[in-house]
Amino acid sequence: MTTGGTAVRVPGAVDDLLARVYAIPMRTRFRDITVREGVLLRGPAGWGEFSPFREYGDEECVPWLLSAVEAATSGWPGPLRERVPVNCTVPVVPPAEAHRLVRASGCRTAKVKVADPRSSLAEDADRLAAVRDALGPAGAIRVDANAAWEVDAAVGAIAVLDRAAGGLEYVEQPCRTVSELAEVRGRVVERGVRIAADESIRRAADPLAVAVAGAADVAVLKVAPLGGVRAALAVAEACGLPCVVSSALESGVGLSAGVALAGALPELDFACGLGTGSLLTSDVTSDGPVPAGGWLPVPRASPEVGPADAGFPWADASTARWWVDRLGRVAALAEESRRR
Ligand SMILES: [Mg+2]
Repeated sequence: MTTGGTAVRVPGAVDDLLARVYAIPMRTRFRDITVREGVLLRGPAGWGEFSPFREYGDEECVPWLLSAVEAATSGWPGPLRERVPVNCTVPVVPPAEAHRLVRASGCRTAKVKVADPRSSLAEDADRLAAVRDALGPAGAIRVDANAAWEVDAAVGAIAVLDRAAGGLEYVEQPCRTVSELAEVRGRVVERGVRIAADESIRRAADPLAVAVAGAADVAVLKVAPLGGVRAALAVAEACGLPCVVSSALESGVGLSAGVALAGALPELDFACGLGTGSLLTSDVTSDGPVPAGGWLPVPRASPEVGPADAGFPWADASTARWWVDRLGRVAALAEESRRR
């Protein structure tokens, strides 16, 4: 790829869109990611982002493409609020660093990664105690286990972490399956700890199964895996649960779509996980969503991407080729299912 990008054909767009591939190192390794990569698509309505994680199969990437095409070709529905509250994100770091991150963020809500192979339950508890100290008694603490626990382990760990945190707002995806979530929820309900479903919604064939099974109190919505802002709004309405909008660790372009969704939801009772731009060492735009004092302004359109020559975090040639090839395969699949 040379300067300016590559012209690509995508379903739902009249003309070719311009594709630019970015690669940005993460500040701290998050789950297994050290470099965030993706394709930015430029269309008549602005920029969209296609950045499904590398291990996802092509079929699973189709909604991510539809989300990028929505942003690039039709833009987003108008907002119902001007700003949205965001949480700060605490990766697996020592307690002192967790304390510093929370204080520096200005957020009233912290989301803490737990149940990571690099961290014991005791270390998770220490991190949570430090986060509570930084937030004060009025702050809200949620944890994300990313489906790491079995049911009994989840129930035991939640008791320990709820105590260490001085109360948890919710536990995100303690186990893998919807039926496990429902069982854990039944067993922690008397502690007053809510269960939130994330992977069960974003990687499920039927995102509504979670509500039907009584498996969660809160639904975590991510724009790209749900196929765009409008598709995510439809999921919110159909599942009938309070919703939190979270990012998929996108660049400022993908994050803006998340903020647009949070701005357009009829109800927004929880802080959103959209302040993740600071987990990346740079951005593709100088105009992306950067929280101030725990809030993000809701954008009217996607932000402008930086100039092709200087400052743009280009992927190297082989990475760019890999992404443009992937985009082509996923576009063909999307076109096929449109015809069906
Ligand atoms: Mg999660």
